Amino acid sequence: MRRLPVFVVVDVSESMAGNAITAMHDGMQMLLQALKKDPMVIEIGAMSVISFGGKAKVEVPLSSVLDIRIPSLDLSSGTSLGKAFDLLTSEVNSKVTKTTREIRGDYKPIVFLITDGQPTDDWRAGYAKFRKCYPSVSIHAVGCGDDVDFSILKEITPNTYVMRDMTAESFGKLFQCVTASVRSVTASMMNGDGVKDDLAELSDGEVRKPTEVECRPIGESRQVLISAMCSRTKRHFLIRYKRGEFGKFALSAVHPLEQKLAGGGASGGNINVNELNSNGFKCPHCGNTGMFYCNTCHAEVCMEPGGMHGHCPGCGWDGELTYGSFDLHKSLG
Ligand SMILES: [Zn+2]
Ligand SMILES: [Zn+2]
Repeated sequence: MRRLPVFVVVDVSESMAGNAITAMHDGMQMLLQALKKDPMVIEIGAMSVISFGGKAKVEVPLSSVLDIRIPSLDLSSGTSLGKAFDLLTSEVNSKVTKTTREIRGDYKPIVFLITDGQPTDDWRAGYAKFRKCYPSVSIHAVGCGDDVDFSILKEITPNTYVMRDMTAESFGKLFQCVTASVRSVTASMMNGDGVKDDLAELSDGEVRKPTEVECRPIGESRQVLISAMCSRTKRHFLIRYKRGEFGKFALSAVHPLEQKLAGGGASGGNINVNELNSNGFKCPHCGNTGMFYCNTCHAEVCMEPGGMHGHCPGCGWDGELTYGSFDLHKSLG
């Protein structure tokens, strides 16, 4: 039986921390449930899920939609889009049956790429390799949130879309569009119906094409992530700052983490403490409202406000705190 291989390539970088990662996971589960109800998709549909953060990983190897379970997704530090394309190339090479003189292979794969950030590796090399092998495979790229460089996604595919919100509802609607698109491509393979695969047309406004202005390179990141640790519970969290007025970054969220992220604390460059406004900070684990920066682990550590003594549970540093201007390591994002 010829299969229609669908590859879903999803960003699990640390900037997805919080609701976004759960919402994306639930959205994929909905996608799978919906596909399992379509008799034509059951017949020919095969799906694979590849995640990319600090590295790329096959979460679900290409299999019939009936045999798939979506595993939980682990966040990691970095947005390795190039590695994702490397892995996609090797998965298509090894799992998709090619048409030869003897056998009729699978249909041409379709790829959905979902990302919320800017690549932190050499994405062009990985992408070029993929295109060299598969020049005509169609890719739909969805940029989520407000820190996406659409000039990059546009280089990858003309089928580039924007999804501004990263709520459960938005991801739900996005995956409804993906479902509709997969069903339409399947029907067209089986019956020769016309393909409806424009996600913007399939969506009721949640997903749209980016404007020309949005497609300009964004250069500097619009957000900063700093790894952090709770001094009382030794648990990890992530502090998210968003660029506000006057170019300063204002605290926008703290995300408790189950465990230290793979690659967490790796430096994505420096930022001066004076560029960060931490008003309103509260440790998500213990409620402390003060913090200091540990120069050894490159992490913020929660503390009681106003104290002059710091103890870092990460590396054991213990000493008097100093005020003043200093640089912090940004996390990779
Ligand atoms: Zn704490
Ligand atoms: Zn430390």
